[in-house]
This record gives sequence, structure tokens and C-alpha cells, in this order.
Amino acid sequence: MLTRFAPSPTGRLHLGHAWSAWFSYLQARSRGGRMILRIEDIDAGRCRPEFIDGIYEDLAWLGIEWPTPVRLQSEHFADYSAALETLRNRNLLYPCFCTRKEIQEEIEQAGAAPHGPEGAIYPGTCRALSAAEREEKIASGMPYALRLDVGAALRQAGQKLTWRDLYRGEERAKPEILGDVVLARKGVPASYHLCVTVDDHLQGVTLVTRGEDLLYATHLHRLLQHLLNYSVPQWAHHPLLLDAEGNRFAKRNQATTLKSLREEAGKTPDEIIEMIWSALPQQGPWRRLLVDV
Ligand code: GLU
Repeated sequence: MLTRFAPSPTGRLHLGHAWSAWFSYLQARSRGGRMILRIEDIDAGRCRPEFIDGIYEDLAWLGIEWPTPVRLQSEHFADYSAALETLRNRNLLYPCFCTRKEIQEEIEQAGAAPHGPEGAIYPGTCRALSAAEREEKIASGMPYALRLDVGAALRQAGQKLTWRDLYRGEERAKPEILGDVVLARKGVPASYHLCVTVDDHLQGVTLVTRGEDLLYATHLHRLLQHLLNYSVPQWAHHPLLLDAEGNRFAKRNQATTLKSLREEAGKTPDEIIEMIWSALPQQGPWRRLLVDV
């Protein structure tokens, strides 16, 4: 079995990442499997090479091992384009020319717009454009994003899709909670949702581990797997670490980066495990993982 830890190099890793990495590593180790590391660096504007080095440095310090070479998403845009092409051939993508401002205005006019985990759901304005209108706008050089027509995708799937989480059991996939998500845009020709689904498939990941904050994404990834004819992994979503005030550890919180815990607070990897142990919710089967680190 294969798990993966897939951080984005947009800052130094913090305590929450250490938990996520250990969670993935220990899930693999406790099942006689392996964990791979993947760098999710498609967003060139936010990712920096020194943070990739920081990830290697921090994980090695924690005692976590991973095979090389490490897959950097920024080197694999051809794979994501191929997946987009499959969806396009199934008539499941449409170009969206709306700016953020236009979407906002449209939503305000509509009154009570449905909201999903990523904010207000796209009202589908460009889904209604005719082929001629699309061609004309593209020919005029208007920038556009490619959106998944989630309604059409669900009709094509034609069956109820489910996914299995180690701790939650079987769940019905409800990708409609996200609406017609953007799968590619000008500047970044592949989105998080697309790249993760393609990579987990190409890399043969059988247990996808990630934080509960991304539970909503799993619903969509399950649909994409079906549309792209991929085999279906299992998932294990872990609870997020909360600080003493009940807030999530975030990258902007400098005091909890692994670098400063190591270099300024003089913490050892064992003390990091203890910090994770005490910041986790008091009850839960995943606590057991940390017992025999
Ligand atoms: N790269 C994502 C992040 O840093 C996580 C990827 C995933 O687990 O799906 O939040």
C-alpha cells in the first residue's frame, strides 16, 4: 500500500504539517506500506524553491523517510493537460469568461446564492453560452478558465458514487457541493483538484491521507476518478491540530514553524510528537498511531 504527503511550498512547514506528515508516514508503516512525498507547486506565484528545501530539511529532521526522485507538480503539466483533454472529449468542460467581480455581482443579484466549502457556488453563467458565443469570445482574446460541468458529469456517471474513509466508513460522493469548479485557468493551466487526482493515480497511491479541512475536495476527486477511469483509493482524513485558543496552526504563525521550534525553542523531534499529542482532540483512533513512533 502507498500513502503520500503532498505539501505546497508556500511557506515553512508548521506543527500542523508535522502531524499530517506523521499521519501519512505512520499509516503506511503500520500497514507494511510506503509513503511518498510530493511537492504541489503548480502555483508559481505563491511557491518558492527555498520552501521546497525547507520541506526536505524539516521532514528529515523529524526522522521521516521518503523515496526519491520526488515528483514536483510543476514538471508535469503535460499529464494534467492529457486529463483535461479526456474531460473535454466527454463534453464536460466549458470555458468561463467571468471575472471574479462579475461572478460576485451575479451572485448578489440572485439574492440567496448557494454556498459551498470554497465560498459561493459559481452561478453557471458561461455554461449557457452557445458554441458560437464561446468561439467568438475566445477568438477575441478574452482570458478564460475551464470549468467542470458537474451536473453533466453526474448525469454521465449515471450511478451513485461512494468513497471509503478508514475512520468514517462509506460516504456518498456529493461533488455538487462545489458547483462547477475551475480545473484550469490562464496562468495556471491545472487546478489543485485536477493535479491531485491525476498524481494520486499515476503514482499508485492506495490510501489518500489529508486533513479534515479538505474533506469536501474528496467528493469531487471521487467523481474525477470515475470520469477519468482511474482506480479508486481509500482515504483517511485526520483531524486538524488546534492551538490553546482553539485556532488552526497556520503558516503565518511563525512561532510554530518546525524551523523556529527547532532553532529558537530548541525542541527535539520527540518533543514535537509530544506537542502534537497534546494538541490533538482527546479521543480518536488516530491517536494510537503516535504511540509507537
Ligand atoms: N497540497 C495540499 C495542501 O498543502 C494537500 C493535498 C491533498 O492532500 O490533497 O494543502
